[in-house]
Amino acid sequence: MTERMISPEVGDDDRDEYSLRPKRLREFIGQPKIKESLGVFLTAAQRRGEALDHVLLHGPPGLGKTSLSLIIANEMGAALRATSGPAIERPGDLVAILTNLEPGSVLFLDEIHRLSRPVEEILYSAMEDYQVDIVIGQGPSARTVKLEVSPFTLIGATTRAGLLSSPLRDRFGIQHTFEFYTPEDLVEIITRSAAILEVDIDLEGAKELARRSRGTPRIANRLLKRVRDFAQVRADGHISREVAAAALAMLEVDALGLDEFDRRLLRMLIEKFGGGPVGVETMAAAMSEERDTLEDVYEPYLMQMGFLQRTPRGRVATRKAYEHLRLTPPPSAYGSQGALL
Ligand code: ADP
Repeated sequence: MTERMISPEVGDDDRDEYSLRPKRLREFIGQPKIKESLGVFLTAAQRRGEALDHVLLHGPPGLGKTSLSLIIANEMGAALRATSGPAIERPGDLVAILTNLEPGSVLFLDEIHRLSRPVEEILYSAMEDYQVDIVIGQGPSARTVKLEVSPFTLIGATTRAGLLSSPLRDRFGIQHTFEFYTPEDLVEIITRSAAILEVDIDLEGAKELARRSRGTPRIANRLLKRVRDFAQVRADGHISREVAAAALAMLEVDALGLDEFDRRLLRMLIEKFGGGPVGVETMAAAMSEERDTLEDVYEPYLMQMGFLQRTPRGRVATRKAYEHLRLTPPPSAYGSQGALL
């Protein structure tokens, strides 16, 4: 996949992400429901001197799942070990990680929906009873040995909660879904990042960036860095609303945060498939993109903005999509009540 300016996935531009990550719960901006309940669970676990219950974090990339895991470890004063579903190939790899955890550690498992089934099964008893069973030897002489695991907190992160098996999902006592951030939250995040990176931006400049960041902090931070470059080269280094707008126009990020890829997707849906409904597989093939990437990364924001609907028969472009692209909706785009979707 070519790297897109507003792709929420980690790219080369995000190298200094660590310095921008909030480290404590009070620095974590937005997501009030998650913050409030997690605050209660953290305090309760600390008072009891126990590991926090296992936590499942669900939501599109770039919304703060990794950051929140770091915060949980910091707040618990615990060591953090981070890995991901695809990185653990064999059950033995996971057993090695688990049996080496210090008591009270936090284990962050990104893309947990991509664990293979045999690896996932190791997690069940580790999560529930803090022990793992391993088989030593082969054939008739094989025997099972139980290994102790120190009490730990597993934090699973996933863009696809629906792909998790229910035995795994049920073992998470705490489960949270991330929402896209409001423009107000993003203004706060941009202002905070600008202070850390020593970027000169005013409130109107921050608002302009916030509006075009797809509700996603990672994109907000990335746009801030690119717009800073533009401000330094084409202006006096100060990011005002005008400078932000000019820079974003150059980057082909439009007024609602859509980039060339989003517009191509909507235009294809409208021009090639009459606005839909069209199946996601067909769309993925037409865009030369993976189906998962379309579903996890691109569609959520287009749906949130009301440009795209998922219906049982496939994807449908809404009137707002036609309007945004300045295209005329065909009569067939009217629903049974005579109104456009
Ligand atoms: P995810 O794990 O969901 O892909 P990350 O935790 O890596 O997302 O977040 C991406 C970047 O966005 C982080 O480096 C951080 O700077 C910023 N970020 C995310 N959430 C917040 C937040 N609530 N407050 C401030 N910055 C945030």
